[in-house]
Amino acid sequence: MNFLSSIEQKREGKILAPEQIQNFIREFTAGKIPDYQMAAMLMAIYFRGLNTAETTALTLAMRDSGDVLKFPKDKRPLVDKHSTGGIGDKVSLPLAPLLACLGFRVPMISGRGLGITGGTLDKLDSIPGFKTLLSVEKIIAQVQKAGCVICGQTDKMVPADKKIYALRDASGTVPSIPLITASILSKKLAESLDALILDVKFGCAAFMQTKADARKLAKAMVALGNECGTNTRAILTDMNTPLGRAAGNWLEVKESVECLEGKGPADLLELVVDSAAHLLVQTKKSKSLAAALKLAEDCLTSGEPRKKWDEMLIAQGADLKAFNRKLALDSTAKIVVELKSEKAGCVSKCDARIIGEVIRDIGGGRLTKESAINFDVGVDQLVKPGECVEKSGTLCRVHAADSVQAKTAIARLKTAFEISARRPPVKPLVQEVIE
Ligand code: URA
Repeated sequence: MNFLSSIEQKREGKILAPEQIQNFIREFTAGKIPDYQMAAMLMAIYFRGLNTAETTALTLAMRDSGDVLKFPKDKRPLVDKHSTGGIGDKVSLPLAPLLACLGFRVPMISGRGLGITGGTLDKLDSIPGFKTLLSVEKIIAQVQKAGCVICGQTDKMVPADKKIYALRDASGTVPSIPLITASILSKKLAESLDALILDVKFGCAAFMQTKADARKLAKAMVALGNECGTNTRAILTDMNTPLGRAAGNWLEVKESVECLEGKGPADLLELVVDSAAHLLVQTKKSKSLAAALKLAEDCLTSGEPRKKWDEMLIAQGADLKAFNRKLALDSTAKIVVELKSEKAGCVSKCDARIIGEVIRDIGGGRLTKESAINFDVGVDQLVKPGECVEKSGTLCRVHAADSVQAKTAIARLKTAFEISARRPPVKPLVQEVIE
């Protein structure tokens, strides 16, 4: 195959045939194309883009570069959710057991943190004994029995994306809509889903900073998902403020359990219930969104998803006693310090980017691929925009590894908040639905 001429064609803005794309993905996955040539192709795609047919060919070729999960026929639809990532975004954790209780099968293949955004697998790693590396056979068996699994991609699933993603990271070609679309959807399509809900975030801590860019990405993914036979919808949600009141791996697991017990923060509950409701409508299990919202909310408050969570934990090797002991603690970090408000008023800003950067820098995220994560650090008791505080009232708490780290974090966290005399208007969390 003459890959050089494909690179030159794309460099000149020409359209690649599906066979050309299938060939170079197969050859690259097999190690027959050097990284420098693939990096050149990625840069050509970054500047010239891909049309819908090219993006579809790329997505399917990447999906087919490895194992595609094959489930037995069953009346329970296969569904999943994907979020483009944010601070405090723990929706997947309570959502998987909720969906299982609503009569779905949920093969939730998740990822690790990217940049300042947290990753579902990193959060789950804070649960004693919980295993996220499962074989394809185990994933299928657990989904059939328990209804849900949350785990990592096996080595054999979508290897093309693993290789291409690493190259994109090192070649400045991550923020390309066709490449993001192919990367996300190739992995989701490898789960053989009937329906998929995408949470595309916009705002200061999101991949897509503006709503217009998020809409463009959402539309591309929705069109392609549907074209490939998976009923796909997207919601555009605000990521200027962290989701919930806690961010940091273990603190987010704790808040997820609270959500399953009906005690979680309103914005988290809203997004969990909303995501489930869309999937109920997409799979025709509910006739209207209003009926679906009621069904999802009733199911969440029934306590059944909380029991399903324990079932999932046990199935994936967790030590439930140790987990419950850990849950009972106020903090697992060495030190907890409160950030106090210097004046009385209403919070008008709680900057998710600053909070995400602080958590990453105190060890809650990775600065390099090799960084080890401290699961115990993070921020909780966040006061959110529209809520009021007294002078010296708590704006948040930081959980840190030592007092020096806590002091630096508190100084930076101060800059994340703005307090105004008047209560600011609060924008809705879910701002658009793209069908
Ligand atoms: N998440 C992915 O899996 N791939 C991307 O390209 C971006 C976010």
